[in-house]
Amino acid sequence: RLHNTIQELRGNVRVFARVRPFLPSDDDGDDDGLPKNSFVQTAADGLSLTLLNSAEDDDDDGPFAKARPREPQHFAFDRVFGPATGQDEIFREVGEFVQSALDGYQVCLFSYGQTGSGKTHTMQGSGRGAMRGIIPRALEQVATYLEEQRERGWEYAMHVTYVEIYNETVRDLLIPANASPETLKKAANLDVRRDAKTGRSAADGATYVPVDPADTQQVDELMTLAAKHRCVAATDMNAVSSRSHAVFTLHLEGVHRQKNARLRGALNLCDLAGSERLARSGAVGLRAKEAAHINKSLSALSGVFSALATKSRHVPYRDSKLTFLLMPALAGNGKTLLMINLSPTPASARESLSTLNFGQKVR
Ligand code: ADP
Ligand code: MG
Repeated sequence: RLHNTIQELRGNVRVFARVRPFLPSDDDGDDDGLPKNSFVQTAADGLSLTLLNSAEDDDDDGPFAKARPREPQHFAFDRVFGPATGQDEIFREVGEFVQSALDGYQVCLFSYGQTGSGKTHTMQGSGRGAMRGIIPRALEQVATYLEEQRERGWEYAMHVTYVEIYNETVRDLLIPANASPETLKKAANLDVRRDAKTGRSAADGATYVPVDPADTQQVDELMTLAAKHRCVAATDMNAVSSRSHAVFTLHLEGVHRQKNARLRGALNLCDLAGSERLARSGAVGLRAKEAAHINKSLSALSGVFSALATKSRHVPYRDSKLTFLLMPALAGNGKTLLMINLSPTPASARESLSTLNFGQKVR
């Protein structure tokens, strides 16, 4: 009951912020040879952070001038992770969302931020060791839990879909390598449909792959296949991953025959397009239009978060494929986590401010 009350008061969206460490390739704005100083400083309480003031002279009167931080600015979120935070610690905080999907909720985790801020590192990570991210860890948690539940009489079916949304076109990333030309053509432009009865939405016709989460090799193969499909469509891999959203979905169905009980949850893990073009929508006129066109989905997501935060009666889920697809997780009984990713460099200060403002809108 208490839990319900908190949900009602706070809505169903949580915001976490993660600042990545300096990389050897990052510039800290001087060459004094001293250790690099993060431009985003996280507080010891793990709940707030400060964006330092820009040392740059404001000689830019262009459309970006307003967005430049002048004074140190403070922001509070549900959780804040500094640059020393490991992948394991991030996952400890995220695990309860995975559990909610197992309990029958529609759940969505987003990683948001400018290109190079650590979105893919957070979501996918690398390898099978300590650097692996949320997706492989979530699959491990699911595998362990399903094993326990089996002993209690639950039977689970699990399917994976994986789509990419690029310029309002939804592409299937899991079409078999030997698919026919017609299948390939269809897979390159899927419709998003909403089932009026169940209230669920889905990318219609997306390859629905049955998986055993304990079979890590099968999951690795699916990831490799998805990466190949992303590459094939792109001349520049980096450009595509920064302009498109990747939505990995785990569909869970549990049945307990003796108890005649049934549950259906979904875990959507969404590596969003780079937010840098959205920052430009702070500009007016033509620029704003261009930005909205290049990434309608991110603008729409921002609109949905704002509407939810202000308890607006109209929430514009239908403004983009992304928000329509993820509507069940964003709305009513769903649970959403927005992880905003920040780069520590002074050169990123303007983008960091825009990312922080995006995260702040949700609260
Ligand atoms: P994005 O997906 O937002 O464009 P990436 O996840 O590819 O950014 O991160 C950019 C680079 O920074 C990659 O080389 C990545 O390995 C590294 N990186 C990001 N976050 C971390 C982190 N928390 N710890 C160590 N390296 C990181
Ligand atoms: Mg990425």
